[in-house]
Amino acid sequence: MSITIGDIAITTVVESSGLAGLPHEVFPDATPEMVEPLRHWAEPHALDPATGQMLMPVQAYLVRTKHQNILLDTCVGNHKNHPNELSYHQHTDYTLLEDLTKAGVAPQEIDIVMCSHLHVDHAGWNTRLLDGRWVPSFPNARYIFSRKEVAFAEAEGAKGDSIYRESVQPVLEAGLAEIVEADFALDDGCWFEPTHGHTPGHVAIHLASRGQRAVMSGDLIHSPLQLPHPEWSPIYDSDPLEGARTRRRFLESMAETDILMMTQHFPAPSVGHIFSRGSGFGMRYLGCDMVHG
Ligand SMILES: [Zn+2]
Repeated sequence: MSITIGDIAITTVVESSGLAGLPHEVFPDATPEMVEPLRHWAEPHALDPATGQMLMPVQAYLVRTKHQNILLDTCVGNHKNHPNELSYHQHTDYTLLEDLTKAGVAPQEIDIVMCSHLHVDHAGWNTRLLDGRWVPSFPNARYIFSRKEVAFAEAEGAKGDSIYRESVQPVLEAGLAEIVEADFALDDGCWFEPTHGHTPGHVAIHLASRGQRAVMSGDLIHSPLQLPHPEWSPIYDSDPLEGARTRRRFLESMAETDILMMTQHFPAPSVGHIFSRGSGFGMRYLGCDMVHG
């Protein structure tokens, strides 16, 4: 999927796509009865008719401005230790770095890496395993991390989580990280919006060029099933109440605008425009007739 926002070219680079759990198990406030009326639009792309599980891709966004190649989120990566998430544990077959090259930008040509947050499926390719050591996958890039998010990842690491040690610390030690506040702006065409709740330092990443706008929403929303139910926070949110407030506020700010929402885990094409519907929202996907919500 390639999109153009003014002078900015954006390409989705999908690492994987698969089953992502039953809605009422991922969203504790949901019940099978509440999911039932959503099936007619959610199936077959967002909800698997055979298993009832949600379907979600894991993907990065390659952003080419006139001057820079920017990578937004870096998927899961290979060889990573995620013993509590077996679907991601010790993968060796993910090809994001090759796929970026195929899309026209080799890893050494990435100028800037930005992560919406430092979770397993958003920060993995920050590093790769080389001769038994974790090294930055993008050796010429400036990695821009939110200060609160790095602190959170480090604290989770102290409790045994592997992401800080494998995917963040090697970047810090290589001197490639720039630690910024959650309201950081790279320039007037790329800036962060604090969207805390999923994690304490989660940000959405805005893009603008010649009057056109887009924003990558990261994990402030996981599934189109949350469009009519923005109050459904997933078990992955570090602060479910703040996550729900952030989700509604963000969707309200997007509704009936021409700002394109670039999601991480909605089904392909994953990007679209938000509209209000009843007490919730819907999304018209770009370039096709799919409408969710
Ligand atoms: Zn995610």
